[in-house]
Amino acid sequence: MAESASITFLRSEGRRADQLRPVRFQNHIAPHAAGSTLVEWGSTRVICGVTIEESVPRWMKEQGVTGGWITAEYSMLPYSTLTRKPRDSSKGKVDGRSVEIQRLIGRAMRSALDLEKLGARTICVDCDVLQADGGTRTAAITGAFVALRLALKKLIAEGKLAADPIANSVAAVSVGIVNGIPLLDLCYTEDAAAQVDMNLVMTGSGEFIELQGTGEESTFSDDQLAAMLTLGRVGIRELLALQEAAVGK
Ligand code: UDP
Repeated sequence: MAESASITFLRSEGRRADQLRPVRFQNHIAPHAAGSTLVEWGSTRVICGVTIEESVPRWMKEQGVTGGWITAEYSMLPYSTLTRKPRDSSKGKVDGRSVEIQRLIGRAMRSALDLEKLGARTICVDCDVLQADGGTRTAAITGAFVALRLALKKLIAEGKLAADPIANSVAAVSVGIVNGIPLLDLCYTEDAAAQVDMNLVMTGSGEFIELQGTGEESTFSDDQLAAMLTLGRVGIRELLALQEAAVGK
């Protein structure tokens, strides 16, 4: 009784503990990109754009590594946050958080692809946060996979790629513990109040690509971890279905 009362109090729009915010994809918003989507996830909005270059990084040539490469960049637009976030270019240094997030996106996308089947080309995934309300990295990964699929579909349709190099579908979601209650998909106010904050990146076959979990001035037990993973799996399953519908359109 006390638990459900505090969930209702905590969650806006009466969201259940295991309920995602509404997620939708608006594809092809950047016509010069090979694939693009605007992922709207509650009040978090991220533009994901994919461009493809017909060459590979120098280190691959030097080390005789065959196949292709995929890399990612992440940035928050200055007006995406409540107080203006200066651009990295005006500060003269790249924000450490952005570097951490773009590496995470890159690793997630590399797990999605068979790089050998991609051939000697480089895919760049750019994720730019238009509006931040928690979960921007999970929205970026989930949207990046949609933009990647759209770009590959285009390559195949143009006859440049014989076989689809997608090896795994990939989605990401946050989970956490707020006021002692495990919750799926934290918005900013929940994230700020969370004792535990975790990001899950998973494949369509239900395997983990990455788990980022931290106690904020707190710790968590095996049982709480299990509860968060159960919630995370629920969210990932829904996200994979939404991505599939978005790409199939
Ligand atoms: N945030 C912000 N300014 C920043 C970093 C974060 O306003 O420089 C907010 C934003 O709403 C973000 C949230 O804090 O979504 C949580 O940030 P976190 O680093 O946990 O990453 P995210 O949850 O977005 O992946």
